[in-house]
Amino acid sequence: MARVLFINGGSEGHINPTIGVVEELISRGEEVVYFTIEAFRERIEKTGATVRTFDGQKFIKAFISGGRNHLLERVNGLLHTADIIIPEVLEQIKGEHFDYIIHDSMFGCGRLFAQILKLPAINSCTSFAETEISFDRTIEQLSKNVPTEMLKKINDDFQNLTTKIKEKYDIEITSPYEVFCNPAPLTIVYTTREFQPFGEAFDQTYIFVGPSISPRLTSDDLDLSSIVGKSVIYISRGTVINQAIDFYKLCLKAFGNTNYTVIMSIGEQTQLGKLGDIPENFIVKNYVPQTEVLKHTKLFITHGGMNSTNEGLYYGVPLIVIPQSADQPIIAEQVTNIGAGIQLQMESLTANQLYEVAENLLNDPSYAGTVANLRESFQKSGGYHKAVDEIFKFKRQYDI
Ligand code: UDP
Repeated sequence: MARVLFINGGSEGHINPTIGVVEELISRGEEVVYFTIEAFRERIEKTGATVRTFDGQKFIKAFISGGRNHLLERVNGLLHTADIIIPEVLEQIKGEHFDYIIHDSMFGCGRLFAQILKLPAINSCTSFAETEISFDRTIEQLSKNVPTEMLKKINDDFQNLTTKIKEKYDIEITSPYEVFCNPAPLTIVYTTREFQPFGEAFDQTYIFVGPSISPRLTSDDLDLSSIVGKSVIYISRGTVINQAIDFYKLCLKAFGNTNYTVIMSIGEQTQLGKLGDIPENFIVKNYVPQTEVLKHTKLFITHGGMNSTNEGLYYGVPLIVIPQSADQPIIAEQVTNIGAGIQLQMESLTANQLYEVAENLLNDPSYAGTVANLRESFQKSGGYHKAVDEIFKFKRQYDI
């Protein structure tokens, strides 16, 4: 039995794939101490892990303080979180021994902890993986039209922040890539190599295990037996940027009183009452057990979050992707490239257009064929079982 330190913050999309991994680790005898924010305590405690928390509000505030406009400002934001996360975690694990660390690829100063604690590290990557070359190319593209003084300030901030971390913890940070992607000797990616853009560019230290799907907290008042055998459309904008009354109203207009049964998840922040009359063929909830709903779904209208996309393809559901931010435009493009769905733009979207695109997609057998093949490869890819097999191989390499 080994003791595992797990560090992960952020949003549900970063947590969900790790739940199965942690359960499986524990079932194979590992002891897991999982650091996260309070909101995820209950879900993670159910896995049998010991949950400890850091201050989510202070974490977000520090992250945002780096700036929001340029990707490099987000890198600086992550460096700002070091001041919050590192002392809090070090204080709570004082005197304890860990054998290895698993950290999220985008949150929680994972690589820094691995270095400070001198632990073999595993990177848990819930989005597409990035090579340093592709990351640097993105930065170059994004920097093209940015005034030189602004770039200089961002770079100066990066230098100052990394110097401070060097002084405090004696750790050298050599690139923004290290901060943003947290490279490690083993990276677990929760999608397939074929869906990953330029999948062949990743060496054998990247293991593509496909979606890691485990049962969700259920929405007590959603009776799934009522949708079995129906022509179900599922609509969700994920758990982060999902306050979008106008979009939800547009969906009501597009599919209200049609032959479809529509399940729409509107997020915890949106008040159901603000949507007005709900047509009878709609079921609208703040949160649904998405992976259960997808088992009965014919079409998924999604914002293109990585987990939602993976989960949709895992259950062989074609997608209409309406991307908003972060990695969603890249995911939407990849969905279109492989023929698993259609991308629409929120800005110009109309109810008629959404309805027509949905009809065309559902009546075009090429989408059904593509997603059936993808479903097979996603379901064969191993998920959290494979992830833990690889973690155990990694342990053997490190004599743990
Ligand atoms: N989710 C869910 N029920 C909902 C909405 C979302 O279970 O009503 C889950 C979904 O299955 C996925 C995660 O929340 O695992 C959302 O992650 P994603 O990466 O798709 O989007 P994000 O929330 O990070 O924008």
